[in-house]
Amino acid sequence: MDVATNLEQIQQKIRQACLNTSRNPEDITIIGVTKYVTIERTREAIEAGVTNLGENRLEGFQQKYDSFQDKAIWHFIGTLQSRKVKDVIQQIDVLHSLDRISLAKEINKRAERKIDCFVQVNVSGESSKHGLAPDEVANFIKEIEKYPHVRVIGLMTMAPHIKDEDRLRSIFKQLKKLQLHIQDKQHAHAPCMYLSMGMSNDYQLAIEEGATHVRIGTNLVG
Ligand SMILES: *Cc1c(COP(=O)(O)O)cnc(C)c1O
Repeated sequence: MDVATNLEQIQQKIRQACLNTSRNPEDITIIGVTKYVTIERTREAIEAGVTNLGENRLEGFQQKYDSFQDKAIWHFIGTLQSRKVKDVIQQIDVLHSLDRISLAKEINKRAERKIDCFVQVNVSGESSKHGLAPDEVANFIKEIEKYPHVRVIGLMTMAPHIKDEDRLRSIFKQLKKLQLHIQDKQHAHAPCMYLSMGMSNDYQLAIEEGATHVRIGTNLVG
């Protein structure tokens, strides 16, 4: 299917999820995850109107960034090794995988501006998933205050690839609850106004539970 048609279908489902929960579709950002696809397919996504792109590996990120630069807003959604920060941090608009102090420290050292970051949380507790345990998040965010180039704009999670809607909703609800808890603290460095959750499999549910950023690969460009 061409990307424009896929995008229309996704936007339709997003509108429905927003209607179900009295939310405004304008508050939802679709991040087109291009990690599986070519430069050509990525170009098609940009031409269809996808302005936010996500990559989870540095090679892919660099390749797409070099091709399209100012035509997109660049989200890095995979694990970032500290020693690689210096190579890419200037190009990243939003990092979705802040999960350790050593990474915050390195970003602070290398970035020449404030970097908008989501703190990655392992809500499901799967050992294969990266991210902080939910009960570590508040202290972690407090620590981040020491690093003025890091701004915590929200929380991110990856739900397991399952069909069980109740289980998925429960994971998204936990992240929403944690977000409210962090917002209550009114940290200047951590406004935490966004939630990055929901992928091809579960983005409608995620939006109904409060997602502001959905990361969609397969259903959009796959
Ligand atoms: C690959 C990936 C996605 C997109 O997954 P799809 O199921 O293809 O939509 C979203 N988030 C992260 C972190 C990913 O690595």
